[in-house]
Amino acid sequence: MTINIDPHCDSLVAKTSLPQELGFGKFFAPLMVTAQYRDQKWQNLTLGPYAPLALDPATMVFHYGQSIFEGLKAYRNRSSLHLFRVMDHARRFNLSAKRMAMPVLPEEMFAEGAVAFCRAVAPLVPSDDVSNLYLRPFMFADQVGLGVRPSESYLFLIIGTPSGKYFADEAVKVMIERSYSRAASGGGTGAVKTGGNYAASLLSDRRAKTAGFHQTLWLDSSTRKNVEELTGMNIFFVRNNSLVTPRLNNSILPGVTRDTIFVLAKELNIPVVEEVVPIDNILRDIKGQTCTECFVCGTAAGITPVALLGEPGLPPYTLAASPGPITQKLAKALHETQRGQRPSPAEWIVRA
Ligand SMILES: *Cc1c(COP(=O)(O)O)cnc(C)c1O
Repeated sequence: MTINIDPHCDSLVAKTSLPQELGFGKFFAPLMVTAQYRDQKWQNLTLGPYAPLALDPATMVFHYGQSIFEGLKAYRNRSSLHLFRVMDHARRFNLSAKRMAMPVLPEEMFAEGAVAFCRAVAPLVPSDDVSNLYLRPFMFADQVGLGVRPSESYLFLIIGTPSGKYFADEAVKVMIERSYSRAASGGGTGAVKTGGNYAASLLSDRRAKTAGFHQTLWLDSSTRKNVEELTGMNIFFVRNNSLVTPRLNNSILPGVTRDTIFVLAKELNIPVVEEVVPIDNILRDIKGQTCTECFVCGTAAGITPVALLGEPGLPPYTLAASPGPITQKLAKALHETQRGQRPSPAEWIVRA
């Protein structure tokens, strides 16, 4: 499918100026990609002006939450802009689509939309070494009706936000959540990017922030004994100089950043262990100083060191180093890889 480009795109971009402070996800590029799924086919892939959507109050997504999303970034390397691992994000989008009984979107269409979007909004991406363009592709059920069943029509969009740093603080404080779950273990929706997982996380997020933490750490929802991940980031520990991270269990999101870290750790001769990670063992190892570092990772925030794990009203478990030496080494390698400044598999970098 070739993309239709509205002739007003370039002038819209040209007359947009960036705000002083970019932050994250606050300022949106003035364009969007759209495509409709109708009569069992994708049609009309278009790049046009960013604009509100008019939706019938009985549109299915409002009632039953059939909606998925992705998050990926384009980075500048000197004059050119490139997408990082766009095909991996396209593949994961379709894993999410399948789980939510939504139609798959051809991977080339996802990539074509993302590339056209980046090319058009490139003048709005600052050339410093911190800024980037965060793309948010998403799809939702737009059929009208209250019957409970998979929708027959969908809307796919890509919007994007030129961004600066994600967290204002250097290291984050993480709250262990013992009562709530973000998604049911195995067979639930924890392994896919659907809005409902985030909706289910917000009450805990509020509790965490009120108690002075930045983020919630979710345990497996059947036993609440094992570490899974944060609401939108995977988690790694450094134990006896090896990286330790929860093994995928169909409830943990398979992060592209998590996967990139595996590849980089191999290059840097850092052993990686994927295993079931009981929270009690980790806390014991932090206390005994065999677990010395912890970090969280995702496209939005890159690698972010964890300062401590804790619970409201209880003494915290503070990591010996934040950021520790292994965290720093990986964060630097990840940054250079994403920026196209370090050799990586050819398909990871797609020029816009
Ligand atoms: C998006 C997301 C991540 C991070 O995935 P990346 O591909 O590395 O950005 C981790 N956990 C959850 C629940 C997510 O939604």
